[in-house]
This record gives sequence, C-alpha cells and structure tokens, in this order.
Amino acid sequence: MRKQPSNQRSIFDADVRVESGESPDVLLDEIRKDAIACRACTCYKHRSRPDGVVMSDGLVTAKLMVISEAPGRTEDAKGIPFTGAAGMKLNEILEWTGLVRGRDVFLCNTLKCWVGPGNPTPSAREVKACFPLLERQIAVVRPKVICAAGNIAFKAITTEDLPMRDAHGKVFYYKKLNIPVIPTYHPSALLRTTDPAMRDIMRKHVASDWVRVRELLNELA
Ligand code: SF4
Repeated sequence: MRKQPSNQRSIFDADVRVESGESPDVLLDEIRKDAIACRACTCYKHRSRPDGVVMSDGLVTAKLMVISEAPGRTEDAKGIPFTGAAGMKLNEILEWTGLVRGRDVFLCNTLKCWVGPGNPTPSAREVKACFPLLERQIAVVRPKVICAAGNIAFKAITTEDLPMRDAHGKVFYYKKLNIPVIPTYHPSALLRTTDPAMRDIMRKHVASDWVRVRELLNELA
C-alpha cells in the first residue's frame, strides 16, 4: 500500500490521539516536523530557512484560535504568525477585546510557508495542499471558537463562498468538529485601506465582530 504523505493524515489521527491522552504539545511538534518535511506545494521554496515554517503562537489550552492566510516576509523571518504591522494591529484588537496574546489565543495561518515576494493570495491548490496541517492543529487545540481573519481562512475552514462584507460577524461552523467560526477582516485590510471613510466603516465592522467573538467565548466558557 502506498504510504500516505505525512501532511495528508486524517484529522482523526490527531482526534483519536488527543482523546487517548497524548500530550497536545508533542502532537503539535509532530505537525511542525511534518510541515518542515512538506513539499506538497512550491511555497516551501520561499522559506528563508530550511526549517522556516510558521506554525503558531500561543498556548494549546487557548479557547480561541485565530487563523490567518499565510505568513508574510516578517513572519517567515521570525517564524511567528501575526508579527509586523498586522500583528501589532491584532495585538491592539485583542487588548481592546480583553484577551491576552500568549495566553488566551492560539494564532496560526492556513498556509505554513511564505507564498513569496509581494505576498500573492494563495491559490486554491496551495490552500488545499496545506489544509491537512491546519486541520490537525485544530484537532489538537480544540478551541471553543475560531476567528477566521480574512477570506482565505474563512473559506478554507467553512467551505462557504460569501464575500467578507456579507459574512463578517456571523457565526458559521467548522463542521468536522462543530466549532463555531466567526469571520472578520484581516488586520492588514485595516492598514491597507487608505480611504478614511471606508477605513472608519471597516473599523466599526471589525470592532463589532470582535465583540461577537468575545460574547461567544463567554457563552461557551
Ligand atoms: S505551504 Fe503548506 S503545503 Fe505548501 S510546502 Fe509549506 S507546509 Fe507544505
């Protein structure tokens, strides 16, 4: 029988092992090693170091998982998601929401490698290739709530095809584990929007989306 590529393992592999009491940190480290070995798409060529995958930031016990698109150049260099200007904006949002980075939130990306110069939007093929690694992370962390920051994460996790203007702040589900997913704009969208009126509208949307995230966390705690 042909050996299954390591990043194509079933989500149930992690599920069963979490339920059988294996250390979540050990399981996360296995996922990281599988990502380092992964050549399922060409993004591995953009890693600044051979082991330069960007896996996560935060504790495995976090009740909230925030999933972004893919690491940028700064994140690739540091090996930590949500660094640079977008990371600072997310930190502001978390603080405003009353959540503590490093304690309450597990941050990760849909893709584990930098897509390349200019940060092009990952292709559907790249998202599909990397998705098993994200599914394994979700199965290990088992967050109460997922916040999908941006369209790529939202569509990958929920398979919905709504534009963010219609989806943000609503509750969808990661159906495999029945985890509620609230989509919102990526913090970098706030930074990129130069029109002051549009930026103001987007800020209000993001604020109300994060209030909803906080409410849902409180309801499910
Ligand atoms: S982005 Fe994901 S699928 Fe592509 S090479 Fe990196 S780890 Fe593998």
